[in-house]
Amino acid sequence: MVTIAKAVNTALNADGAALRVRVLTPAVHLGVLDYVPLDQPPQPGQFVRVPLGQRKVIGVVWDTHGLSSHHVAAEKLRPILEVLDVPALPLETLRFVEWVANYYLAPPSAVLKMAMSVREALESQPTALMYAKNGAPLDRLTPKRKAVLNALRADEWLPAPDIARRAGVSSAVVLGLAKAGGLGVRSVAKDQPYPWLDFTQLDVTLSPAQREAADQLWVHAQDTSQPLLLDGVTGSGKTEVYFDVLARCLAEKGGQALVLLPEIALSTQWLARFEARFGSKPVLWHSGLGVAERRRAWRAIISGAAQVVVGARSALFLPFAQLSLIIVDEEHDPAFKQEDGINYNARDMAVVRASLSKAALVLASATPSLESLTNAEKGRYTVVTLKERHGEAILPDIELIDLREDALNANEWLSAPMRAGIAQAVEAGNQALIFLNRRGYAPVTLCRSCGEKLECPQCSAWLVEHRFDNALHCHHCGFSMPKPKACPACDKVDSLVPCGPGVERLAEEVAALFPNARILQMTSDTMGRAHRTQDIIDIIERGAADIIIGTQLVSKGYHFPNLTFVGVPDADMGLGGGDLRAAERTFQQMTQVSGRAGRGQKRGRVMLQSYMPEHAVMQALASGQRDQFLRQEAAARQRRMLPPFGRLASVIVSGKGEAETLKAAQAIARQAPQMPGVSVLGPAPAPLALLRGRYRMRLLLMAERSVYVPKVMREWMSRTQTTRAIRVTVDIDPYSFL
Ligand code: ADP
Ligand code: ZN
Repeated sequence: MVTIAKAVNTALNADGAALRVRVLTPAVHLGVLDYVPLDQPPQPGQFVRVPLGQRKVIGVVWDTHGLSSHHVAAEKLRPILEVLDVPALPLETLRFVEWVANYYLAPPSAVLKMAMSVREALESQPTALMYAKNGAPLDRLTPKRKAVLNALRADEWLPAPDIARRAGVSSAVVLGLAKAGGLGVRSVAKDQPYPWLDFTQLDVTLSPAQREAADQLWVHAQDTSQPLLLDGVTGSGKTEVYFDVLARCLAEKGGQALVLLPEIALSTQWLARFEARFGSKPVLWHSGLGVAERRRAWRAIISGAAQVVVGARSALFLPFAQLSLIIVDEEHDPAFKQEDGINYNARDMAVVRASLSKAALVLASATPSLESLTNAEKGRYTVVTLKERHGEAILPDIELIDLREDALNANEWLSAPMRAGIAQAVEAGNQALIFLNRRGYAPVTLCRSCGEKLECPQCSAWLVEHRFDNALHCHHCGFSMPKPKACPACDKVDSLVPCGPGVERLAEEVAALFPNARILQMTSDTMGRAHRTQDIIDIIERGAADIIIGTQLVSKGYHFPNLTFVGVPDADMGLGGGDLRAAERTFQQMTQVSGRAGRGQKRGRVMLQSYMPEHAVMQALASGQRDQFLRQEAAARQRRMLPPFGRLASVIVSGKGEAETLKAAQAIARQAPQMPGVSVLGPAPAPLALLRGRYRMRLLLMAERSVYVPKVMREWMSRTQTTRAIRVTVDIDPYSFL
């Protein structure tokens, strides 16, 4: 550690003036700050400890003048305290931080914080003492000490507790022997290196179609300026194909690969396949990791020792030493869009990140987003397709059930044909999956006496009844309360009734219909943590469940060979509301969940219940005419200048008082940009007009594709002034319109 006293010896430039070092810290939203170096000016990307007011904070030496800094007079400059003994952030990471900050109007410090991700990784690394036989001649050995020596093989270094356990003695005996000179001692880093993965074995035999797709991807991957889109039907073996490309890339080019999955905590099957293919697990990155695992991963990534990292969207900000390849699996998945803090889209930023590192990029999906398909059509992306399922599996037929004809009984959600479909699968000893994207028991609780619907006190949202914990929950803010005995509006006792189905209620109906079937619920309430997820997957794989009822979690990439029936009681659910992607998303979600059926040798069957089977989405699903549907959808968006043919940015203005929020939103609207190709809608109350006790107003900027929206938004926001009580959030390329 360098002391401040040494700072008198600061570096001077040719004129004798103190050199300035620009440092960005994640601690405050101040931008880049100037400091003076100690001796040699540190290199860009190096981590330094600097004084900030009364505090000492860690920052990164910045190299460009692209970020604005606060000018500090030369005599007020303070010295850098210490250069940390950590590899420097790669310059590509610095550029990426600037890019994201610039595009999403985020403070660079907040983006840097994501790249630094784990404070502990920057501290000196923890070490552990290891002991081994040193061959020293010892007389008068106690039996216990003898046991210690007998427990160790030659050249075997172990921590004292491990040796003690093996020898059946206490750790004190091991330490005593070492102190007496009877054991060698060595201090080693606590974080063990990750197992080395072998990419030279090509042991999976790809089918001819898969081989061709993998070869094509590999050929095109040489030109890293073009993202690749792997468009393959569910069950076609996209994972095997991109594993092949990953292996070839790392074997030939070396470097590191990053695989982004939408829901990493749920990807246990994926991890098992990776391990089977490459001999060891990849480096994992997701929010569920503990500090020690994060530190170990981060250090291995920045040092280049981590070969393959698989993670959720935040993994994109990791400081890869040498990134050769990024794969975004299920690229259409909305989970890649972050909806709080910095509203970035990891799929889009993967394109930026890859180009900064000249890394190859593969986007994979059975239902690519209209954005990616349009990029492919325009020649910006190269497409490789897989048209058939692997092996003998064939895509399931999708049947539409018209609920206007096959009417439902009161408080039931499965029509007669759907019941028959489930029964057929279960009787044949196969598994059935029922998909309803609604957690809890009932989405609305209604008073039979006065008509009151129970609402969240802090949000404009109904409270959702959950039976597993007997409470009413708000799915937006987390508020919960026990279900009241009496109606809070009219005080009538026992008058509150559930309205509509959630998965728990559906499970009740299924249990009544199939009393002998083993029923399993698969939702984020039942699969909170990763090991619980593994349990549920194990149950299904073992065949210990007959009927699985789940939310969108079930649609994500799982492969259950005995699952032959998929039923969707409410296929129309996603089509309501004002989301511009509603039709596209419904199509994707229905295709993905249908894709779980019939992946093995047995033929799959899918039933969708709908009140509007004539809708273009339903027709496309039933007829398998994806391309025609997408063409229609694209034409409709083009007419309205919506993404990907136009650009959007939304502004959410929120505050505690309704009137002041409206006033602030109107003031912002008056400053709206006046320029060709740009229009602004609003302010209007957001669909979620009240959230966590704050009133919300929305404005929407629509622009032609040629407009660089972040610049327009930045200028607009710099013209507006609001009080502290008002919060203004800008969302570039929004996915949520709530
Ligand atoms: P997708 O991601 O396209 O839906 P997967 O990669 O999950 O498809 O493959 C579906 C199933 O087929 C998986 O169980 C996978 O292990 C198996 N599979 C795919 N290709 C091969 C192959 N070439 N050899 C053996 N098994 C394969
Ligand atoms: Zn709420």
